[in-house]
Order: sequence, then C-alpha cells, then structure tokens
Amino acid sequence: MDNDVQLGFETLAIHAGQEPDPVTGAVVPPIYQVSTYKQDGIGGLRGGYEYSRSANPTRTALETCLAEIEAGARGLAFASGLAAEDALIRTVCRPGDHVIIPNDAYGGTYRLFAKVARPWGVAFDPVPLGDVEAVRAAVRPETKLIWVETPTNPLLGIADIAALAAVAHDAGALLAVDNTFASPYLQRPLTLGADVVVHSTTKYLGGHSDVVGGALVAADPETGERLAFHQNAMGAVAGPFDSWLTLRGIKTLGVRMDRHCANAEKVVELLVRHPAVRAVLYPGLPDHPGHDAAAKQMSAFGGMVSFRMQSEEAAVRVCERTELFTLGESLGGVESLIEHPGRMTHASAAGSPLEVPADLVRLSVGIEHADDLLRDLENALS
Ligand SMILES: *Cc1c(COP(=O)(O)O)cnc(C)c1O
Repeated sequence: MDNDVQLGFETLAIHAGQEPDPVTGAVVPPIYQVSTYKQDGIGGLRGGYEYSRSANPTRTALETCLAEIEAGARGLAFASGLAAEDALIRTVCRPGDHVIIPNDAYGGTYRLFAKVARPWGVAFDPVPLGDVEAVRAAVRPETKLIWVETPTNPLLGIADIAALAAVAHDAGALLAVDNTFASPYLQRPLTLGADVVVHSTTKYLGGHSDVVGGALVAADPETGERLAFHQNAMGAVAGPFDSWLTLRGIKTLGVRMDRHCANAEKVVELLVRHPAVRAVLYPGLPDHPGHDAAAKQMSAFGGMVSFRMQSEEAAVRVCERTELFTLGESLGGVESLIEHPGRMTHASAAGSPLEVPADLVRLSVGIEHADDLLRDLENALS
C-alpha cells in the first residue's frame, strides 16, 4: 500500500495484501490450493514460496491484511484461535515462567493454561483485570506475559489496555490482548501499547459461521519473527480455503460491526426494562463497571450482550424458546445466536475459579432486522 497516505480501516480491510493478481488481473486473491512449489534449481524460489506450511500465497494475503487492520508489523494465521494462543504461549514462555490471565477468560483459554501450559511448567494466576493494582500485585519476577481479554467472553468485563500495557512493560513482560469480541474495527490494542493481538477469526473477522481460524498480530517485527518461527515449527497453520473465507469476511467487517452494534443497543434497551431479566451485562451501559475504559478504547460497544435471569431454569428456558436467535455455540456471525455459557461454551470452566453464573444467557446479536430480533426475545422471555 502507498505509505504516504493514511488509508482508512474499511479501505485496508478490502485492499491490504490483496492487489489484483499480476498474471490474470483477478481482483480477489485466488485460493492457492497447493502444498509445494517448483524450484528453478535448488533454492531457486520463484515467488518466495517453497512449502505451504511455511507460507502460502492465500495465507500471506490474509496475514498482510490482518497486520494492517490491527496496525501491527506482522500478522500470522492459524488453524483456530486456540492454535494461535498455543503458539503465542510457547513463543513467549518457558517452563518456570508465570502468566497473568483474566479471572473471567474465555473457557478454552483457561483450559489451555490449566491443562496444557501448566503441566508443561508455566504457572498462571487468574486476576480481575478491571483492577489494575490487583494485576500489578500479581506480577512476579517470572511473569513473562499478561493476557488480556476485553470485552471478556461471556461476562463482558472490560480491562484498560493502556494501563495494563504499562504494568506489563514495567515488569519486563509482554501484553497480549484477545481482541475477538471487539474486532479491530472497534478497538486496536497495538495502538494502545499491547505487544500482540490474538484473534479467534472464527468469530467477527470471518463473520459468517463458516470457518474456524485464529490469528496473532505482533506490534514489532522481532516478536513477529519469533511467532512466525513457532507457527512454522508447530504447524497449526490456516489452510488456503480457510484463509480465503476469512479474507472475504474481513472485507465487510466495518459495515457488519456497525449493524451488530446498532442491533445490540436495541436488544439491550429491551432487556434492561424487562421484568424477567435480573441484570444486563453490556459495556455500553453507563453503570457497567468498565464503561469508562470501554468508552476510551472502543469506538462502539460491540454485538455481544449477556444477561442474568432469576434462575438457571429461567435462563435455560429462554435459550430453548427463541426462534431467530439460534441456540448454538460460537458468535460473531451475521445470524443471531443464543446460548447458556454454564452448560455450553464455558462448561470446561465448571468447578474452576472461572466458573460462570448458572443464570447467565449470552447473545451474539446478528445483523437481521432489529424488529424481528426484539419480537423473538420478547416472546422467549414472556
Ligand atoms: C472462540 C474464542 C476463542 C477460541 O477460538 P477458536 O477459533 O474457537 O479456537 C478464543 N478467545 C475468545 C474470546 C473466543 O471467543
């Protein structure tokens, strides 16, 4: 891209890494469904590609685009969000090191730390990240990484990225931010001091519930290079077709997020005044404890809404009664989804310090007509 002009987010999302194909003029990067590349003499690579675990042109297009939309130096695409997380942990940590994670982290992230990283020798402490002093107090000499998720899944907790970046850097640690819920359209952690951004591209970046993928974006080229080494050495890369689907999703991220946010605000209005709902968790609400930090670092409050009913039974009943809100795991697609985190996405955190309330319901508010979504919820709650 032309470095003299600062291109807008939507423009980067459509064009970064995606110049028309030099041979055919195709305006969309082809799916390079190929594992290996002809060499003109040993080591004579035509386009810099030798084997598709190491690099593949469709994945390169996605990785370039990811780096640009997150304002980073290097983007890397993985087979899933958790594969990206695993590569990050193994790049930054060695046995004996320590990590701070959110006390309401995504259940799969918690499981990765508790069942994979800890047996490998990496200790961790779950800490409420909304409390910066609590994070500072949890830092140890061996702390190599502070892991932030904001907003969190499913409790929509908010962490102040800039404040935590300062804590991490004072401690000589890196700050990683799982930016899955906000997406780079609403929040760019690297511009706030974070060192690495983590994504489940399965969610808003892909945006159509048709692909599983993950990404890391590093703020600086050196960290990017270290992560790229592990991406290749561990091998959990995104395939060409998955990369292509994710790239296609990213092109419309801005317009989709605008509608996700607008619809979510209407859903929140309905839930806040509904007598069957005990509490609504949404960072856009002025009484949300993280509202000020969210308003500072996000351009809007996102499409995820959680709420608490009077009981587990009531929560389960709502989940089973909606018709447009499909009962299902995952989030961030164009279609609205509803789920019961305690029994579904976060069942792996049961009995742990990260167990979620049993009366909690999580909505991924889609981009359907708002009136239809409101009617559906109204019916399910009645
Ligand atoms: C889904 C999710 C992940 C894990 O990503 P996968 O693509 O399912 O491996 C990580 N973090 C958050 C916040 C998520 O919602």
